[in-house]
Amino acid sequence: MECSVRQRGHRLQQSTMATTVAQNLALVRERIARVAEKVGRAASDITLIGVTKYVGESQAAALLAAGCSDLGESRPQQLWDRAGSKHCTGDVRWHLIGHLQRNKIARTLPLAYCLQSVDSLRLLTAINTEATKQSLTARVLLEVNCSGDAEKHGFTPQAIVELAPKLNEFSAIDVTGLMTMAARGGDLAVAAGNFAALRKLRDKHLPDLPELSMGMTGDFEVAIAEGATIVRVGSALWEGVERG
Ligand SMILES: *Cc1c(COP(=O)(O)O)cnc(C)c1O
Repeated sequence: MECSVRQRGHRLQQSTMATTVAQNLALVRERIARVAEKVGRAASDITLIGVTKYVGESQAAALLAAGCSDLGESRPQQLWDRAGSKHCTGDVRWHLIGHLQRNKIARTLPLAYCLQSVDSLRLLTAINTEATKQSLTARVLLEVNCSGDAEKHGFTPQAIVELAPKLNEFSAIDVTGLMTMAARGGDLAVAAGNFAALRKLRDKHLPDLPELSMGMTGDFEVAIAEGATIVRVGSALWEGVERG
């Protein structure tokens, strides 16, 4: 008896959580649509990555069930666990958005739809070697440090300029775009400047790359105004949701 009451309580909690997640997702999509319209872009040209690094598996599954099928994880190990989990199956694309250690490439490659955080030539080279070995093509974004923060990972803009003409030498890699994060502690004007810098770098040196992944909870609207095609949103999706 006591057990069934508790189970019912748990189920209620789960359905409340799922409702909150679905509402948060709807709000974020609405904000994306509003800013897209304002700047004359189609909301359908902007992919929302739901960042699940803060929450448990049932919350991630609720986001997926609510219709967010692009999910992002920062840590390779957590991506492996979730991509292999029975809760998060179906039509899901996993994006790695945090640093990838070279000894984790082999296991990450077949599970990730896109490696958004390729931050060095050494890593790019190692991914190409492993993808060749596994007979697959790795979809990759190059992470660029546009803010000059010393603690941030990423290519310098100058390194991208030098790499651009050599990208076709990486035969097992499909570089689809660039990714960046705004300066830590900067305001929205600073973020807008960082995002504009990424767009200009792409336009000038890699005009064939379609994707610009930029913008998180605090700055995705200015990122869209500056041309983001991918936004990576975590916190706004988990407001009022217990994170366990
Ligand atoms: C955590 C993280 C995000 C999401 O950040 P929020 O501010 O919670 O939306 C986006 N991108 C990267 C690279 C992250 O590590």
